[in-house]
Amino acid sequence: MQRTKSKSAFEKAKTLVPGGVNSPARAFGGVGGTPIFIDHASGPHLFDIDGNKYVDFIGSWGPMILGHAHPKVVHAIQNTAVKGSSFGAPTEMESQMAELIISMVPSIEMVRMVNSGTEATMSALRLARGFTGRDLIIKFAGCYHGHVDSLLVQAGSAATTLGVPSSPGVPKGCTADTLVLRYNDIEELKHTFLKMGDKIACVILEPVVGNMGLIPPAAEFLKELRNLTRQFGAVLILDEVMTGFRLSAGGAQQLLGIEPDLTALGKIVGGGLPVGAYGGKKEIMAKVMPSGPVYQAGTLSGNPLAMAAGIATLLELKQNPPYEKLEKYAQRLEDGLHKIAQSLNIPHVINRVGSMWTFFFTAGPVTDYDTAKKSDTKMFSKFFWAMMDRGVYLPCSQFEAAFNSITHDEAIMDFTLNAAREALAEISS
Ligand SMILES: *Cc1c(COP(=O)(O)O)cnc(C)c1O
Repeated sequence: MQRTKSKSAFEKAKTLVPGGVNSPARAFGGVGGTPIFIDHASGPHLFDIDGNKYVDFIGSWGPMILGHAHPKVVHAIQNTAVKGSSFGAPTEMESQMAELIISMVPSIEMVRMVNSGTEATMSALRLARGFTGRDLIIKFAGCYHGHVDSLLVQAGSAATTLGVPSSPGVPKGCTADTLVLRYNDIEELKHTFLKMGDKIACVILEPVVGNMGLIPPAAEFLKELRNLTRQFGAVLILDEVMTGFRLSAGGAQQLLGIEPDLTALGKIVGGGLPVGAYGGKKEIMAKVMPSGPVYQAGTLSGNPLAMAAGIATLLELKQNPPYEKLEKYAQRLEDGLHKIAQSLNIPHVINRVGSMWTFFFTAGPVTDYDTAKKSDTKMFSKFFWAMMDRGVYLPCSQFEAAFNSITHDEAIMDFTLNAAREALAEISS
């Protein structure tokens, strides 16, 4: 497969943009080699500037649940663009978007639009702190919530340690009120709340984790989380930037039956344009400025083009729920991958919830960041490139989830399984 045009595009980009990319996950750092540059995309396929075609399993890292360039989304953007792209004054589309979100996500009674997932989690944290008048926040190791200063933390070596910044440029003070706990660890959670529950403003988590590879929550863990936050008056924030509108029309909270106080949304809610949102109980959301004192604003928030793409996407998901079909084809892929890997004696775990999945190169089980990190990342890199050479674009890191769209049908899954059969045989020989 020729990738010479992508290679020279990357060389040029590196002289202009840090690392040649506008977001680090795109740089192929986890698998080596250089990224491919995209020319266009359609349905389940990406086409690079060298003319290669790939089945796309990243879907822009989550948003493209309807596949690329879905006609309804394209029309919505075109029809809106001719009417002007930003006003800095309210439009009825913003209410239409809010109504849709509120009708779909069970726990959301009121919602504010922002421009990215990062903004959504950052604003939800500020609101939780403003609402409770407390400073401490809890996050879980391996969960990603965007590049919010106070959430860019690593767990210390001992359990229940205060976080230390995981990036230069984040002052110690920014993470001094962030506790990092182990995902799915009920005892640690209980212990922490018993010790300092009355100082904890909120707990933020991915209800199904996609950002250390796919890791589902233990049912008991979510139950305890809800009980403890209620008991101690802490705000429970579900970061559904990835899972919202993907795992069900109402996100992971609907699928798993957990009711958060606040929810952060992103990715699918913008239908491929830059959008985020945070919402929840009226009582809490009413504290946001201008109805309340907690400051949050945005010049392009609720932007008409973004609303058009998001509304078209959500309407399609609401009117023609694709979730059974997504499950069916994802199951087909999982079963097939499992069989192939088993026949080749490759130690592996496939974690999957609906249309999100990760093939881990470890005997597992994978239940948290530490067990995810036991994966053989060298094997993953080889697998990634062997799949690329066969026209399948997987997430370029062992620690990212893959996403299927409604355009990933039986034929696409079988194409992918054929590629995987050859790729896994090649790398395990
Ligand atoms: C992608 C993601 C974010 C950050 O969203 P951006 O739009 O990249 O800022 C936050 N939380 C989760 C769970 C995500 O997957």
